[in-house]
Amino acid sequence: MSRQVLDELKQQISLLDYLQTHDWRPARRLSRGRWMGLCPLHAEHQPSFLVDPSKNLFYCYGCGRGGDVIRFAELYHQVKFPQAVALLHQWQGLPPILQKAADFYRMQLHRHGEAVAYLYQRGVRSPELIEHMRIGYAPGGCLRGWLTQLGFPLQALRQAGLVTGAGYDTYIRRIVFPLEANLYGRSLSAAAPAHRFLPGAKGGLYLWEQVQQYPEVILVEGLFDYAVLWQAGFHNVTCSMGNQLNVRQYRQLCDRRRAVYLAFDADTNGSGQQAAQSLAYRLREQDVNARRVSLPDGHDPNSFFANGADARQFQALLEAARS
Ligand SMILES: [Zn+2]
Repeated sequence: MSRQVLDELKQQISLLDYLQTHDWRPARRLSRGRWMGLCPLHAEHQPSFLVDPSKNLFYCYGCGRGGDVIRFAELYHQVKFPQAVALLHQWQGLPPILQKAADFYRMQLHRHGEAVAYLYQRGVRSPELIEHMRIGYAPGGCLRGWLTQLGFPLQALRQAGLVTGAGYDTYIRRIVFPLEANLYGRSLSAAAPAHRFLPGAKGGLYLWEQVQQYPEVILVEGLFDYAVLWQAGFHNVTCSMGNQLNVRQYRQLCDRRRAVYLAFDADTNGSGQQAAQSLAYRLREQDVNARRVSLPDGHDPNSFFANGADARQFQALLEAARS
């Protein structure tokens, strides 16, 4: 995790908001906009917990602990630094402008036959799945007008990467999946790059909070792989959005003892399988029981299911997975 990402996180999250959503109430106001209240980190009857919103810092005169919002999350949830950062990302969710863009794209999906046809051809068929993944469609050429009408200045649209420097929608004819703090767009057109993210990090593992308690987790490379597995009833699936995990995703997989089935692409150049092999090695060093799932040559989980395989056949691949 880069210094810059951490600094951004600390700036973006208001410590006061974070405290208040964790049931902290200020007892009295001090000079320079600071607040004093009961300490959420130790039991006390006289307020000695000081919050300075202008510096986004806290200090407790009772237990002597203080720091920034990440430090607070560490102490309050009794977790280590990386987990505290992950919790804060989860708490933060999509920034409002991306949330509104995602809502808009969802409204477009069923108005565009080509988008629904594309999903169908990729094996994405159940309305429940589309709802679960909040899948949308960016036709191009109308997001800017919509968001401007909602009151977002053009500069904010540019900054979020939703609109190009020249003022056009960035995502044109793309299926859109909202991530933790980004929007992934898959192109329908072969003329454009297939995979795109908005500026910023791709974030942690996809919908990790929904799978982290499973003793066995299936990890796939792409969101369409995720989609068909989830649809087939494998709800313990997650996705790294590419076969190279970032530090946070890797730490998430290692946060407890579990089995991880790596169902990466069996592409002809071997890059998926190579990535799976090296990841399996690194996971085993952390005591994670990593198993590599072998798909038929040239397939990924998505094409396997889109070509007619069923849950039972995938289950057989899981059982045959090599450690
Ligand atoms: Zn205290």
